[in-house]
Amino acid sequence: MKTIAQISAELQGYDPQALTCPDVNLFLSKLVTPVTGTDSVHLFDALGRVLAQDIISSISVPPHDNSAMDGYAFDGAQLSAQVQLTLKVVGTAMAGKAWQGTVAAGECVKIMTGAIMPLGLDTVVPQELARSVGSMADPQITIPAGLLQAGDNRRKLGEDLLQGRAALQKGELLTPAALGLLASLGVEKVTVWRRLRVAYFSTGDEILSLGEAPREGAVFDSNRYTIFGLLKRLGCDVIDMGVVRDDPALLEAAFTRAAAEADAVITSGGVSVGEADHTKTMMKKLGDVAFWKIAMRPGRPMAVGRISGIKFASSPDEICVDSYNVDSIKSTPRQAILFGLPGNPVAVMVTFLAFVRPALLQMMGCNAGQPPLLKACSVEAIRKKPGRTEYQRGTVSTGADGALVVRTTGNQGSGVLSSMVQANGLIVLHHQQSNVGVGDEVDVMMFDGVI
Ligand code: AMP
Ligand code: MG
Repeated sequence: MKTIAQISAELQGYDPQALTCPDVNLFLSKLVTPVTGTDSVHLFDALGRVLAQDIISSISVPPHDNSAMDGYAFDGAQLSAQVQLTLKVVGTAMAGKAWQGTVAAGECVKIMTGAIMPLGLDTVVPQELARSVGSMADPQITIPAGLLQAGDNRRKLGEDLLQGRAALQKGELLTPAALGLLASLGVEKVTVWRRLRVAYFSTGDEILSLGEAPREGAVFDSNRYTIFGLLKRLGCDVIDMGVVRDDPALLEAAFTRAAAEADAVITSGGVSVGEADHTKTMMKKLGDVAFWKIAMRPGRPMAVGRISGIKFASSPDEICVDSYNVDSIKSTPRQAILFGLPGNPVAVMVTFLAFVRPALLQMMGCNAGQPPLLKACSVEAIRKKPGRTEYQRGTVSTGADGALVVRTTGNQGSGVLSSMVQANGLIVLHHQQSNVGVGDEVDVMMFDGVI
């Protein structure tokens, strides 16, 4: 486990007052470590979990050569480009059982989709391409010349998964497709990394919890709800710790309890330069924490590090916990990774997506990393200062010519959530990039499946 000082020393030109976004990702990748506990779960409970084992195919899928169509199976060596082929139908192969019998040259077998290919046959003519000739007593078909090649419409044994080969790898996030693949191998249960526990709270005397009476100068807490949503999408167990007032004793209690219970603690607010509150002081007191100014917009200030927790002994009912083993937490003092996010609601989301999400995925044991960026043409000019990364809320759509276009969603203020709601992605204007002209291509981090 490396300290903040050790990691800082490893980063070339590390400047906590002007950190670039890629350096933040690099720093965090050195700070966090994957969880070690595992769960054995049924496939129905495995969606969104991260595999903790390599899956080796115990069988081949499909287990036999079989037909991809309803039609007639025959030996494709008899096909000719010039002459139609006439075949005598000698039987029917149904899905689910092997057709017993031999097929000579000039013969074929009527076959259903998924039925095992009879011995020696490698080609299927789909029913709609074969013409029935002959009689009830002597059924025959003809296949027009030049339509088929040997091997057509046959699925080969193991073409999906070959027995003994790796089907899925440790660290893969289990998607619906992966669940289906596991089921096709007959796998009922898988070993996955345990869920990550993430505690979060909001700070600031002006922040109201829902249900509290509005008062002058106060705003409702929105950050806890966006953070909740972002964490849930990642499949984390969440521990909601509410709003913590700007009081040293309350902050100390919140940090130590959060760190004792969770793998990661996310706070919002109280990390700006001019903050007069106790959040930063408490982070310093309880942990090994770096305070950054990141060359980005929105979301300049951020605190990152480790916070030490103390033994937790109060009732689990006091806090909102999805599922975790309270007894194991009670008895083990521990450290948690701290992400001290800025207070502005959009800055919270942007810093989460750009930095916290990839770090949490790493902690979850997942290989996924950063989501891929899409390229789209900007329908408008965007002003951009080189020397910082800017994230603009935007909507990507398909233009008249079929190419992707992107437009910004209005007011880009760091507290304006409505433009975030309208957006389906973040336009990423990289560190060295300058003004964007109409029609220029830009990178977009899509929200689809992410938030
Ligand atoms: P701070 O980083 O604490 O200076 O906060 C920056 C801005 O974000 C201020 O306008 C705060 O009122 C606002 N803010 C901080 N926390 C929250 C929150 N949980 N929900 C909504 N707005 C917040
Ligand atoms: Mg504040």
